[in-house]
Amino acid sequence: MKKETVDVLVIGAGPAGTVAASIINKAGYKVKIVEKMKFPRFVIGESLLPRCMEALEEAGFLDAVKEKGFQEKFGAKFVKNGKVCDYFFADQFTKGWSWTWQVPRGEFDKTLADTVEKMGVPVSYETTVTGIVFNGSDSVTTVEDIDGNKTEIAARFIVDGSGYGRVIPRLFNLDKPSNLAPRKALFTHTVDLKRSMDDEPNRITIIVHQKGIWIWVIPFSNGNTSLGFVGDPEFFKDLEGTPEEQLRALIATEPYLSERMENVEMIFEPRVLESWSATTEKFYGEGFVLTGNVTEFLDPVFSSGVTLATVSSQLAAHLVIRKLKGEDFDWHTSYTEPMMQGVNTFRSYVMAWYEGTLDTIFFADKQNLEIKDMICSVLAGYVWDLENPYVKNHATALTKLARMIEIEKTLSV
Ligand SMILES: Cc1cc2nc3c(=O)[nH]c(=O)nc-3n(C[C@H](O)[C@H](O)[C@H](O)COP(=O)(O)OP(=O)(O)OC[C@H]3O[C@@H](n4cnc5c(N)ncnc54)[C@H](O)[C@@H]3O)c2cc1C
Repeated sequence: MKKETVDVLVIGAGPAGTVAASIINKAGYKVKIVEKMKFPRFVIGESLLPRCMEALEEAGFLDAVKEKGFQEKFGAKFVKNGKVCDYFFADQFTKGWSWTWQVPRGEFDKTLADTVEKMGVPVSYETTVTGIVFNGSDSVTTVEDIDGNKTEIAARFIVDGSGYGRVIPRLFNLDKPSNLAPRKALFTHTVDLKRSMDDEPNRITIIVHQKGIWIWVIPFSNGNTSLGFVGDPEFFKDLEGTPEEQLRALIATEPYLSERMENVEMIFEPRVLESWSATTEKFYGEGFVLTGNVTEFLDPVFSSGVTLATVSSQLAAHLVIRKLKGEDFDWHTSYTEPMMQGVNTFRSYVMAWYEGTLDTIFFADKQNLEIKDMICSVLAGYVWDLENPYVKNHATALTKLARMIEIEKTLSV
């Protein structure tokens, strides 16, 4: 069997893996990425948040991504029964990036992986991790390529950025169920010739279709638009026919989309994803750290996935560097706690979304603009800014605000 030695082995060449690999490589360590698929590969998660730009910038990826001419994104638009609530990141309370991109992920992830390779990090594609043996913080990982050739990779540390693959949680039984209800999505990419009817392409549109069921509309710069229905699996269960017939039937029932998307060309047979929320017993252990989706993935509604993936990897990379230098620190307070601050803020917003609390706030007749800017910061991914009362008090602030809006509505009748 072939043998290799590196300082840090990174599992997965998605945004989590490539951001971590780049930052650790820049600090002078020998890093290698192993990736199960051949790139470009399809993965869902196309609408980014401004906060991820900070991580992409530190990883040295921004120039390469800019060159690709992806659709710039300046905000998020929510629509319900013809009412519109627009958030523009430039208005946000927290000082930070006011824009980001909407990207077909196959192309975006390949750009990051090609860039990290140019920086000197080898990426072995079509190579799957099949086993890991730890000896203290040192480890030996067995990987297998598409031809069945096995290699043993000795590493001083492992970053697991394997996304939905959840390599370390699965190998070491660390997976834990999420506290969020299971949900399902049916989605495709469309050739969106009538785009200008409803949307400017420069932001995501999220349509409340009915209680608990929503639609994402994510325009790309190539004229195509990603479209997906999301919600309780029960909602989808009576749909008949092929996935394409099912999606067309749903589109026909949504007034905001029916004319624009009638007979639209679907670039691929609509796909289904379900029960994606997952978490794990721990985010780190002796000799490894989990980053990105492997830690905890909540829900797609606020496009938090890539931001949590890149920000967790940015933080983890700095901690791995400190560890390799022989520093002693507490991983729980340095990594798990700050990551959970962000995850739990998004969790409160996801729960408020499905409970309808955010509908009350987003579609209120009178908007308090100061509060709107604070909520805008969360929608931009700035979920670590404890100066923002709508981050600091995420668990209660939305319910209180919705209650006030309801009381004012009752008094004004
Ligand atoms: C319906 C839906 C819609 C979403 N929409 C959005 C959105 O609009 N915006 C957003 O930010 N997020 C969204 N997400 C979330 C997004 O998909 C993820 O959060 C994001 O891709 C996580 O990035 P990552 O780098 O952690 O993992 P990934 O992007 O999944 O990358 C992990 C990589 O690891 C590789 N891998 C897996 N197993 C192995 C193995 N054994 N050996 C080697 N390599 C392996 C995989 O092939 C993959 O390339 C959505 C999710 C869902 C379910």
